[in-house]
Amino acid sequence: MSNTPTLETQVLISGGGPSGLMLANELGLRGVSCILLDAKPSTAFNPQANATQARTMEHYRRLGFAHEIRAMGLPSDHPTDIAYFTRLTTYELARLSLPTAKEAVKKIKDLSGSWSAAELPHRVSQKFVETVLKRHAEKHPQHSIRYGWRLKEFADHGEHISAFASSIDESQSIHIKAQFLVGADGPKSFVRHQLGFAYEGETGVKRDYMGGQMFAVYLRSKTLLSKIPHPKAWMYVTVNPQRRCFLACVDGHEEFAFHSAVLPGENADDWGLPQAQERLKELMGCEVDFEMLSHQTWTAGHSLVANHFSSGRVFLMGDAVHLFTPTGGLGYNTAIEDAVNLGWKLASVLNGKASPKLLESYELERKPLAQRNINYARGFADSVGLYPVTKAIEEDSPHGEQERALASAHFNAHARLEFNIPGVTFGGRYDHSPAIVPDGTQPPKDQANVYEPTATPGGRPPHAWMQDSSSLYDHFGAEWTLLNLSDDEHMSEAWSKAASNMQLNLKILHLPLPQLRELYVQPLVLIRPDQIVGWRGEPKQEPEGLLKQLLGFL
Ligand SMILES: Cc1cc2nc3c(=O)[nH]c(=O)nc-3n(C[C@H](O)[C@H](O)[C@H](O)COP(=O)(O)OP(=O)(O)OC[C@H]3O[C@@H](n4cnc5c(N)ncnc54)[C@H](O)[C@@H]3O)c2cc1C
Repeated sequence: MSNTPTLETQVLISGGGPSGLMLANELGLRGVSCILLDAKPSTAFNPQANATQARTMEHYRRLGFAHEIRAMGLPSDHPTDIAYFTRLTTYELARLSLPTAKEAVKKIKDLSGSWSAAELPHRVSQKFVETVLKRHAEKHPQHSIRYGWRLKEFADHGEHISAFASSIDESQSIHIKAQFLVGADGPKSFVRHQLGFAYEGETGVKRDYMGGQMFAVYLRSKTLLSKIPHPKAWMYVTVNPQRRCFLACVDGHEEFAFHSAVLPGENADDWGLPQAQERLKELMGCEVDFEMLSHQTWTAGHSLVANHFSSGRVFLMGDAVHLFTPTGGLGYNTAIEDAVNLGWKLASVLNGKASPKLLESYELERKPLAQRNINYARGFADSVGLYPVTKAIEEDSPHGEQERALASAHFNAHARLEFNIPGVTFGGRYDHSPAIVPDGTQPPKDQANVYEPTATPGGRPPHAWMQDSSSLYDHFGAEWTLLNLSDDEHMSEAWSKAASNMQLNLKILHLPLPQLRELYVQPLVLIRPDQIVGWRGEPKQEPEGLLKQLLGFL
């Protein structure tokens, strides 16, 4: 053991799923070094999450690779509809039509109100997203991204972290000295267990669908799509009394992520190809040839948030601190926003721009957000999973028609409830955080399906398209931005001086546009590095004090 080398880094990240990789990108952007360890040989093989929400896409845009993500997964002209059927070869019940990736890029420029955004959501398997996140994380020369390595021990010494890790084949080991440790190590988080933190909330909820054990099969079939006599979709959900399932297109041609409910009395832990064949036949209503690429079980029905997100120099993110039922596609997206939130704060402290006290705002901001998103996901799961399906729904009879009409009404409404969620994706707020300066105004009501743009400090800045068809967000600085929306160019001078005194990277954006003044109400608006409104007001307020407050110095 004495020959074990010691590596030094600023941040040690345990876990190279979406949250760990995103954090590596956020730190890299700010010149902070990290060692990222992941016990798997590489990024995810299984498709896992299927949906990248619009706010996550906006963050990928900020980092410069949203277009690369949008080019992944389905072909650019593949529909991204969500459709409901009794079986895929029998009755179609409901459909929410959504734009293809190619259409999304054009369409977003004509949308307003709830969907005034720089990006629309993108339907893409997490496995593809992770490859892009990894490629960009690896571009930072100060980073060491190590798959096939497991964190085995760590200790917080107050002044620094010491850790011990081994390669998976145990042939190599390293000691690591870091300023901070971040556990992005998933639901079974070693780091969370070592800290003695526990998930709290609801688990073991039973529903016909999205409540209980699920059997997941990643499969390849050249003929599956040709057997479906309905318009193409991205996600196919079945509603019949035998078994509830869904199938998501992975590459738009022959790869699919298939998830079926495991019924009471069954246990899918020992299931393999024969059961996968039976389940797929139930979904389709006919036999289909396929190759099983992998299979696993997972549990739907969790609504869990950890009691703490940090302790001393150790932080937790993603599934390590919140476990969702995947309705609404919020687990991975919430994990990404954890990394966005923690990234600039760790970097600001490490670069000497902020007080370590700023880091206390991570848990204060992200824990309530996780709870909020979990509650939305649970509501969606109840709506889709508790619908009472009768035998008659499959009958070719007037009674059958009546049952299908009822199901159509329910699932047409449900699809909009679960998959048209600008309020969930844009409406998350940090109103009571010490890293926000409130202005006494009240934000609009939090609603899943409606987002009312507001510049009340604590939330996402209202979006606008500029005359040259760029997004307002494209003009924000990489760190802090002061929007000067008044006609007076000099109104922001005191801010420039204060930022320069504090050696803070503040971009002044003078945009005397009535459209923006209407959206933001006040002439001066300060945008945090995670594109959250930190403060807004009049020039008479003293900037240095405000910046110090936002950086945890006061
Ligand atoms: C079958 C399935 C379907 C899903 N569908 C959806 C969906 O539709 N929508 C959605 O939003 N979410 C979905 N999810 C959830 C989504 O995949 C997770 O929310 C997301 O992966 C969380 O990202 P993360 O970075 O927090 O953790 P993870 O992706 O779990 O990554 C954690 C990483 O930590 C590594 N690790 C663990 N311990 C150690 C250690 N000691 N040392 C080093 N590395 C370690 C693991 O190898 C792993 O790669 C699904 C999950 C599954 C399993």
